Amino acid sequence: MKKPSTVTIREVSPRDGLQGETAEIDTEGKIELVNLLASAGFPRINVTSFASPKAVPRLADAADVVAGVIRRPGLELDASVPNLRGAERALEADVDTLVVFVAASDEANLRNVRRTTEESMVESEAVIRLARASGKNAVGTVSLAFGSPYGDEVTDDTVVALADRFVAAGATGLSLGDTTGEANPQAVFDLVSRLRAEYPDVELALHLHDTRGLALANVLAGMQAGARHFDGAIGGIGGSPFTKDSSGNLATEDLVYMCATMGIETGVDLAALPSINAFLETRLGHPLPGRLGQFMRGSEAASA
Ligand code: ZN
Repeated sequence: MKKPSTVTIREVSPRDGLQGETAEIDTEGKIELVNLLASAGFPRINVTSFASPKAVPRLADAADVVAGVIRRPGLELDASVPNLRGAERALEADVDTLVVFVAASDEANLRNVRRTTEESMVESEAVIRLARASGKNAVGTVSLAFGSPYGDEVTDDTVVALADRFVAAGATGLSLGDTTGEANPQAVFDLVSRLRAEYPDVELALHLHDTRGLALANVLAGMQAGARHFDGAIGGIGGSPFTKDSSGNLATEDLVYMCATMGIETGVDLAALPSINAFLETRLGHPLPGRLGQFMRGSEAASA
């Protein structure tokens, strides 16, 4: 079977993962989570979002969280940035990578941030240019890249046109978000193949949700088409509170386990994940949805 020798896993539980939760984790807890993830070997972590503190009060501590994280060599911290003001705050906090996002569905973009996709793109281009001028990486995310829950059509041409704008503005990476789990392996293979051919030098990441149980199959299809960067959230937590039908991210345990058993290097210590799963479960006050995470914790308890 054709497979990469190495892939990069980006852990998104601190930001995407926590945003759908009702329980709030305090600043110290968020810092502890990021440091635990870094200790487990995750090379990239989506730490926070520099959203307006007025609009999203629970993210008002974004700069404090970044400041509290132990900066290890090789660890890349990224933050989601919804606008130029957020970009200035992210740069002040010295994150390594600024992540911008637009939805391939205009309807979803309007509901999410009350702007059209075009309006969000114009602001995203300005953020990317500012990040690059400041010596930082910039990743352009197209969310709902594989379909919209609102019934409007999303085609590969739509996604590629948005990706073109990100790259032209200077993006160092592109990420395809399947926020509501609409993708299937064929669709992933086709879109990733097309973007890989168009931009061989731009990092291409897949951000997959497991709404319909296809996330891991979609990872495998993405690998076949040349994607080498994949997102996951411990225990499969997450989902946008602003988007219809959004549910958990691909569980990181599933992703790390699949790679480990297939001989694909990730640098992540699988054995360190049950304790992080337990940490989150305690803080969030409910079992996390990912099945493998629960199984690993069960078998760990049985052998203790
Ligand atoms: Zn997500």
